[in-house]
Amino acid sequence: MPEYRQDPLTGRTVIVAEERAARPHQFDIEEIGSEDASSPNGYRRTCPFCEGNENQTPNEITAFRPVSQEGGTLPDTPGWTVRSLPNKYPAVVRDAAYNDSLAFPSHFSLNGGSSPQTCHDLAFPGLGHHEVIVDTPRHVLSVTDMTEQEVSDMFCMYRERLRTLKAEGRWACVEIFKNVGVAAGASIPHSHSQLIAMPFVPPAFQSMLLRARQYRERHHSCFWCDMLQFELGKQTRIVEETNDFVALCPFVSRFAAEVEIYPKAHVSGFETMENMGDIVLLTQFAALVRRTVTRLEQAVSWMKGPLAYNFVLQTQPFVVSSQDDENLFHWHLSILPSLARAAGFEWGTGLHINPVPPEKSRFSGSWGSSFFMIKIPLLVPRVINALSACTSCSEMQNFHGIFP
Ligand SMILES: [Zn+2]
Ligand SMILES: [Zn+2]
Repeated sequence: MPEYRQDPLTGRTVIVAEERAARPHQFDIEEIGSEDASSPNGYRRTCPFCEGNENQTPNEITAFRPVSQEGGTLPDTPGWTVRSLPNKYPAVVRDAAYNDSLAFPSHFSLNGGSSPQTCHDLAFPGLGHHEVIVDTPRHVLSVTDMTEQEVSDMFCMYRERLRTLKAEGRWACVEIFKNVGVAAGASIPHSHSQLIAMPFVPPAFQSMLLRARQYRERHHSCFWCDMLQFELGKQTRIVEETNDFVALCPFVSRFAAEVEIYPKAHVSGFETMENMGDIVLLTQFAALVRRTVTRLEQAVSWMKGPLAYNFVLQTQPFVVSSQDDENLFHWHLSILPSLARAAGFEWGTGLHINPVPPEKSRFSGSWGSSFFMIKIPLLVPRVINALSACTSCSEMQNFHGIFP
C-alpha cells in the first residue's frame, strides 16, 4: 500500500509506493519489437497505448470518441482520440490504509505527545487517484509529433478530468504532468500524460500560496499578473506573446531553457477555461505549447537523440484554507527540458545552479527563426566565477535583504 511520509524536521514529504517498481520499461521492449515500426501511425504491437491494443490496459475511465461514425465506438475499442485510464502501477490509490507497524511514534512529531502510539502526523495512507491520459492513438513521442488539434484535444481532456475530479469533492489538489524521453523519467515512449489527485495540498505548493497571499495583502493584486505585466514591459525574458497567453523564461529558472506559459487574464483554475466564441482559448494555448516545444527541440538539435522534457500543469487547488484564497492562484504550465540533472549540490542545499541565465535562454526573433543560447560547457565556468565573486559585493547584501 502506498504511503505519504513526512520528515518531522524538514517537512519534506515523499510517497513510498512499492507498486511503481513493477512497471515495465517499454523503451527496452521496443528495441526488440521494433519490426512493426513501419505500420500506419507507427503502430507497435508491444505498445499498450497504441490504438488497437486497448486489451493491454485497464478499462478506460473515459475517452473522446468522434461521433461522426454511428454515434462513436464502444469503450475499450479503437476509434478514440484521447483516452484516460487508471494507472496500472499507481503511486497513490483510492483505498489506502494506515500501516502503523512501520511508522514513527508520536513523540517525533512537533504536534505529538510522548505516547508510544503511532504518529498519524508523519505517515498518512497513500490515498489519491493516479491516471494516465493517452494523448493520441498514434505512436508518437512528443507534442511536436502531434497535430495542433491533437494537442488541443489533450488539453481538453485535462480540463474534463479536472472538472470531474473536482466534482467528486474528495481531492484537494491535482497535478497533471508529462514526461517525454527516458532522461525525463518516461517508461513508455508513446506520448501520454499523468494525473495525480491528492487529499491535501503538498507542502511546497502550500508555501507558494502563503507567499502569494502575503503579496496580495501588501499590494492588493495577483503576484503572477503583476509579474507578467513587468515581464511584458521589459521583454528580456519573453519567448512569445499571443492574444491571450505569454510564454517566458522565469526570472528564477532552475534549469537552462525552462519556460512557463501563463494566461494573460487572471484565471485560477485550468478547469474553468472556456472556449470563447471564435477565439478558442484551448486551441490557442495548445498551439503555443507546441510551438514552444518545437523551438526547444530545434535549439538543441545539436544534441544526440530527441529532447527529453517534462511539463507540469499547476492549477488552483480545489480546497483552500479560506474563501479569500479561492481565486488566489494563477494557473500556468512549466516546461522543463532535461538538459542537466540535479546533482550533489542541488540535493544537499535545495539550490539549483543554472548555467544559462533565463535572459540568454529565451528565444529571440520571430517564430520560425529560433535562436537559442545553450552552450552549457562554455557558460558553466563563467557562472561559477560570478557566484564566487559575489560573496562580499553589494548585490549579495541586497540578496540577503530580500530573502531573510
Ligand atoms: Zn504506441
Ligand atoms: Zn493573476
